[in-house]
Amino acid sequence: MKSSPKGSTVSRETQLPSPQQTRTIVIVNQKGGVGKTTTAVNVASALARGGLKVLMMDLDPQGNASTALGINHQPGIAGTYEVLLQHAKIADVQQPSPESENLVVVPATIDLAGAEIELVPQVAREQRLRKAVSAHLADSAVDYVIFDCPPSLGLLTLNALVAANEILMPIQCEYYALEGVGHLLRTIDLVKDELNPELEIGTVLLTMFDARTKLSAQVGEQVRQYFPDQTLVTLIPRSVRLSEAPSYGQTILGYDPQSVGAKAYRRAAEEIAQRGARLSVEAATVGATR
Ligand code: ADP
Ligand code: MG
Repeated sequence: MKSSPKGSTVSRETQLPSPQQTRTIVIVNQKGGVGKTTTAVNVASALARGGLKVLMMDLDPQGNASTALGINHQPGIAGTYEVLLQHAKIADVQQPSPESENLVVVPATIDLAGAEIELVPQVAREQRLRKAVSAHLADSAVDYVIFDCPPSLGLLTLNALVAANEILMPIQCEYYALEGVGHLLRTIDLVKDELNPELEIGTVLLTMFDARTKLSAQVGEQVRQYFPDQTLVTLIPRSVRLSEAPSYGQTILGYDPQSVGAKAYRRAAEEIAQRGARLSVEAATVGATR
């Protein structure tokens, strides 16, 4: 049951392999400014342009992912807040992104800032997003659900860690890159033990890599030692074009498709799609020989 790319927006892109089951990926790192949102929107757009059906859920009250994907998220627009606190259906609040006909977005408005507190007294407060996403996937064909999180480990991020099966951790190639990662890993272990045994760190992506500095190379090396299987071969370079794109309500793939940043994010998305496809094949092979 696979979507084939239609229309001119995706026809020039290489078709990416679709996963056997919907992949739910949470972009997480409790540090701000490490490239979470930039990674979320560009990977989402690259997967969608590669012919895959993508749902992006913006969980950051700042709504930067919504902005970058050309989505209206002014106060009063329904989005993630209504899904978490008012039982709104994802299908009723998602908006099509001008990036690709394969990409829809559940926007974040500033209302979401209150959700962190408003969720506290709710029943099964950390399961809200998981339930909404499961209900949506029961009757919609989606290849990838991607969650962009705020820079904290509060209830919004926790909801995403419970709703997703995979973590994509962007790590900025700078001093103290791994500072705080220990805390994040302990949180992930707790979530696995108590709330979501399926959660795994699937992907680590090195961001803002500066080939001219020794420091970037050293950090990259250290991260690869720490996460040998998860770290993508592709590095995201530091590039001004990447930081300019959101102010035009575009990802780098729309804003400057031939730039180094666009090429890097296309390769990263391809690696993610290929690795997932390979894992599914391995799982199928193991199943068949049992
Ligand atoms: P986070 O979501 O983790 O807070 P962002 O993705 O918003 O991080 O990135 C923080 C800032 O750095 C933004 O201004 C963004 O445009 C910029 N940025 C992100 N990735 C790059 C990059 N590879 N090169 C240059 N600037 C980048
Ligand atoms: Mg962000």
